[in-house]
Amino acid sequence: MKKELLCSLLFPSMLFAANTKGKPNIILILIDDAGYADFGFSGSKEFKTPNIDRIANNGLVFTDMHASASVSGPSRSGLMTGRYQQRFGCETNTSLDIVGVPTNERFFSEILQLEGYKTAAFGKWHLGSTFEQHPNSRGFDEFYGFLGGARGYFFNESFLNHETKGIMHNREYVRFDGYLTDVFADKAVDFIDENKKNPFFIYLSFNAVHSPFEAKDSDIALFKNTSRPTLAAMTWALDRAIGKVLNKLEDEHIIDNTLIMFMSDNGGDFSKGNSKDNYPLKSEKGLEFEGGHRVICTFRWDNVIPKHTRFDGLSSMLDIFPTVLNVSGSDYKSNKKVDGVNLIPFILGKKNNNPHEWLFWRIERWKAVRYNNFKLVSAQGVGDRMYDLSNDINETIDLRHTHSELYKEMKKRLYEWEDVLIQPIKRGESKWKDVKASMYKAYFNNEIPKRRTP
Ligand code: CA
Repeated sequence: MKKELLCSLLFPSMLFAANTKGKPNIILILIDDAGYADFGFSGSKEFKTPNIDRIANNGLVFTDMHASASVSGPSRSGLMTGRYQQRFGCETNTSLDIVGVPTNERFFSEILQLEGYKTAAFGKWHLGSTFEQHPNSRGFDEFYGFLGGARGYFFNESFLNHETKGIMHNREYVRFDGYLTDVFADKAVDFIDENKKNPFFIYLSFNAVHSPFEAKDSDIALFKNTSRPTLAAMTWALDRAIGKVLNKLEDEHIIDNTLIMFMSDNGGDFSKGNSKDNYPLKSEKGLEFEGGHRVICTFRWDNVIPKHTRFDGLSSMLDIFPTVLNVSGSDYKSNKKVDGVNLIPFILGKKNNNPHEWLFWRIERWKAVRYNNFKLVSAQGVGDRMYDLSNDINETIDLRHTHSELYKEMKKRLYEWEDVLIQPIKRGESKWKDVKASMYKAYFNNEIPKRRTP
C-alpha cells in the first residue's frame, strides 16, 4: 500500500506534510544484556565508559527503570508498542530466535515517520523477520543491522545471507569491514549528517554486550589486567561508538535539541568468564528478580532535563512509546490499551507521584508484580516470595507472612492482569523448565544456583 494512502486511512490530517519545525531529534540507544553495575556512572571501577557517563552526567539517571521482560525479544516488543507484549503473544524467546510482533500492533517509529521524522534503525532488530515485520515496513526509512537476537561482531562469510544473523542494508544482505559496534555508530553518524536539517529518530540498537564475547585485540590489550578483559573491551568499544555519535551531535550544534535515551533491553547474564555485574541486584537475565528486568537507564536532553539529576519513580520501558510521541508533538491516540505513560511530567517534577503504582512481568510460568516498593516473585510449581525493595533491594527477606493481606492483593492483581493476556505465539523450550525451577528454588533460599543450562 502506498504510504500516502496508509496515512490517509490511519491519520486523515496527515495528508498534508507534517509541520516539523523545531521538533527535537530523538535517539534511543538500546544495548543488550548489560550488567547493572558495569558502567562508570553506575559504579564500575573496572570498566571505562567516559562517553556513556557524558550522557548520565549531563542528564538524568533512572534508579527504578524496568524492561517489560527479562529477555530480549519480548522486552523489545513491549518497548516498540508501549503495551505489555503478552497482550499480543510475544512472551518468550525461542531457539528459533524470532517470534515476531503481529503487524496489527503499532510501533512508535511508524507514528514518528508520519509526524515528519526521518527514521533509522541500526543494529539488532529481534522483532520479526517477515517482509511485513522488517524495519523498513515498521516505520524506519533506513535500516542497517540484523533481524535476529544475536550474532558475532566480525564479518563471517557463512552468515552473509543468514535469515537472522546476516547484516542487511535495508532489505539487501551486505558484507562489512571491522568491528560491528563501530560499524553501527558510523552508520548513525552518516545518517545524522544526511538528516541534520530534519527532525530525526535513530534507534541505535547495539548487540553489545550480548554474547558471543568478541572484541578487537587492541581493545582487549587495554584491559588485560582486569578480571573480564573481553567484556571490558566490548564495553570500551560500545562507549567509543556512543562517543562518536555524541561528538557528531556537538559538531553539528544539534545536541541541545536532541533527546538521547540510553538503556539495556534486560539485565546482565552470568556467562562464564564474562559474567555481567548486576550489583546490588539479585540474579540475572531471564529471571524475574530485579537482576533480570531492572535496567541501567539515563536520559540527556540539554536545556530541558537538568544535569546531575536522578529519578527514583517506578518506571517502565513501556513508557518510551508515549514519552517519545509526546516529545515529537504527536497527538496520536491508540485505539488499543497503551500500558506505558508519558515520563516527561514526572521527570521534570510536574507530577510528584510514581509513573506506575503497579507493574507486571510474565514469561510463561515465571511471574512478578511490583506494587510501589513491594515485589512479588511467583514461580509456578516452586512457590512465591514477597519482598520490600525499599530496604531489601537484594530480595532476601520474605514478607508473605508478615504482610499476608498485601500478598493476597498482589496475587489477585496478578491474576486479573493475566486474565486479559493471550497465549504465547510460541512456547519457550520445555528443556528449560527444570533448570529454571531449580534456579528459582536456589534464589528463593538465597543460594547461588548450581545449574544454569539444560
Ligand atoms: Ca537482551
